[in-house]
Amino acid sequence: MKTAVVCGAGGFIGSHLARALKARGYRVRGVDLKKPEFSPTAADEFLLLDLRERASAEAALALPGGAAPDEVYQLAADMGGMGYIHAASADIMHDSVLINANVVRAAAEKGVGRYFFSSSVCVYRDMARGEPPLSEDDAYPARPDNDYGWEKLYAERMAFAHARAFGMKVRVARFQNCYGPEGTWRGGREKAPAALSRKVAETPDGGEVEIWGDGNAVRNFIYVDDLVEGILALMASDLDFKPANIGTQEYVTVRELLAAIADVAGKRIAAKSVPGPVGVASRNFSTARIENTGWRPRFALRDGLARLYPWIAAQVAAARNP
Ligand code: NAD
Repeated sequence: MKTAVVCGAGGFIGSHLARALKARGYRVRGVDLKKPEFSPTAADEFLLLDLRERASAEAALALPGGAAPDEVYQLAADMGGMGYIHAASADIMHDSVLINANVVRAAAEKGVGRYFFSSSVCVYRDMARGEPPLSEDDAYPARPDNDYGWEKLYAERMAFAHARAFGMKVRVARFQNCYGPEGTWRGGREKAPAALSRKVAETPDGGEVEIWGDGNAVRNFIYVDDLVEGILALMASDLDFKPANIGTQEYVTVRELLAAIADVAGKRIAAKSVPGPVGVASRNFSTARIENTGWRPRFALRDGLARLYPWIAAQVAAARNP
């Protein structure tokens, strides 16, 4: 039986990943500052550790008997949607770089077989609408739009440097915006699909929902089950020193996203522009590299939203009537 350690297993994607690894027969250790918020962890064991501490990273990877884990998935990060990324860049850069330095070094020294790092399409520069897709190599010359993206780019390089120095197999994925049930939906760290779903759930039929900026920014969203399958496909691949974008090819404006959520909810909702941290103007990325592994997304945006929205509506209802 293979052993996998999932760092960040108390978070959105990490908790779904732990479930998928269990379903594939792995023995799974979850590590995080906190347990998953919405349902019990699928991991066989769960360690509450602060990975900003080097000793915690070593403890996270120390298995009984001293063997190295076969696979380590590093998803722990100080993380949030665009509002949080703009408000908390010092904490993000400080905390996440410590986590990434500690975990990758502990893994390399331990002799871990395969190491996965969750990067982001925030490593890319802003794009104009209608620009042809950027491939992974187009992250250089580097000009990320925010400090979160700079930290990710540095952490990618740090992971590959450890691959070279220690001979560890490293896989790096650049995630597009991920959405689905059991992700953060309130509190300031939520991302656009969850935030807009919450607002639609809170708004009566015929009402208005606020969007940041003019709503014409172009975005791409990937359903969490598809992303998890992409992570596993990349980890099993032979893509040494080759980061891979994981996302769909379905691009929508923020207004279109809101309209799709309203449609799923069966409500007539108008968008009201308000000032806010909009982020980049446009996105368009090649997914040819990850698709060469045979992976394909299965969920169109509308199908994924049809799974996200009822979950958020239930959270909103439960919060109203605790
Ligand atoms: P999340 O916030 O739900 O999960 C991150 C987890 O890391 C949290 O549970 C948090 O408690 C944990 N963590 C933070 N600091 C820690 C510390 N010091 N020690 C131990 N654990 C700590 O975020 P997510 O959406 O599941 O994202 C997972 C990874 O994927 C992150 O690295 C994120 O940057 C990356 N990513 C996510 C998206 C997305 O759309 N969700 C997009 C691009 C990249």
